[in-house]
Amino acid sequence: MDRRTAGVDAPERHFACTRCGACCNRAPELELGESAAFAETFVLRLMMRIYSLPRALSDFVSGLPREEASAEFYGTKRLLGQFAATSWPAKVKRDGRAVDYVQYLSLSVLPLDLGAGSCAALEGDTCSIYARRPLSCRSVPLHYSRPAAAAARDLDAFTATPGYRCDTGPQAPLVIAGGSITDAPTLAAHADAHDQAEADRRWKSALVKAMKTGEHGLPSPREVEAQAASGALTASMLGAWRVGGNNGAIARAQLLLEAQCELIEQTMQRVELDRDTAATLMAMLREYRKAAQTRSG
Ligand code: SF4
Ligand code: SF4
Repeated sequence: MDRRTAGVDAPERHFACTRCGACCNRAPELELGESAAFAETFVLRLMMRIYSLPRALSDFVSGLPREEASAEFYGTKRLLGQFAATSWPAKVKRDGRAVDYVQYLSLSVLPLDLGAGSCAALEGDTCSIYARRPLSCRSVPLHYSRPAAAAARDLDAFTATPGYRCDTGPQAPLVIAGGSITDAPTLAAHADAHDQAEADRRWKSALVKAMKTGEHGLPSPREVEAQAASGALTASMLGAWRVGGNNGAIARAQLLLEAQCELIEQTMQRVELDRDTAATLMAMLREYRKAAQTRSG
């Protein structure tokens, strides 16, 4: 049976990256604890986003057969619990009735989109930092925040993207078999991402506390929730790094600010930027310089 027509009833998939570079069309989202390692590579922003999941499986709408829906629901729930900074109950109006949901606050790091249409680490078709690329890049196309139950569908959707030249032929390694991910590098990336989430737990909790008290000008979790329909909120990394420095998650917040200042200055000289992006970079530069002076003064 052709694997494209097999659907999720026969979750067996082959995949190899040919390093065409096509999916490096934007910068990768990072875990909080990865931010220090990429402060000289990307202009970083703290990203605050809400994910919602019904409290009960019976309210989970997926269009999948019951067993698959159940596997996807519980897998998603477990992963949201692992990666989210905090969660709270909420009622969501659906089809005229109030449904019990859980809102999960995700705190991650997103390189600023410089409008170039590609990741800042891409040189030609090649990743210039391949050996130390972020966890999300290491787990392409089976992101570590997605449940194994959705892996075959995720892979199909990814590899069907126009312009992507992934090898999915039978000669490529088997990456999904019997409904499980079997690819060793992907599994290693998932394990590292879960370890990172565990290591970031205290830092994220401290950051949630800072958000609740409005420290560092950060929005509260409820403010992030209130505007969830229009997307994620971002802020400079100053608050995240200061909180991380205070609770021992990072050792050299000062150096990270200096590295970002240098990178922002280089970026503003090198890259043609639209007005909004240039204004964001200028605001970050002013904020980081002031913070650096305050600390060293
Ligand atoms: S870090 Fe490398 S692999 Fe990841 S998106 Fe950028 S260029 Fe691609
Ligand atoms: S589109 Fe596919 S082949 Fe190309 S870099 Fe991304 S994963 Fe690799």
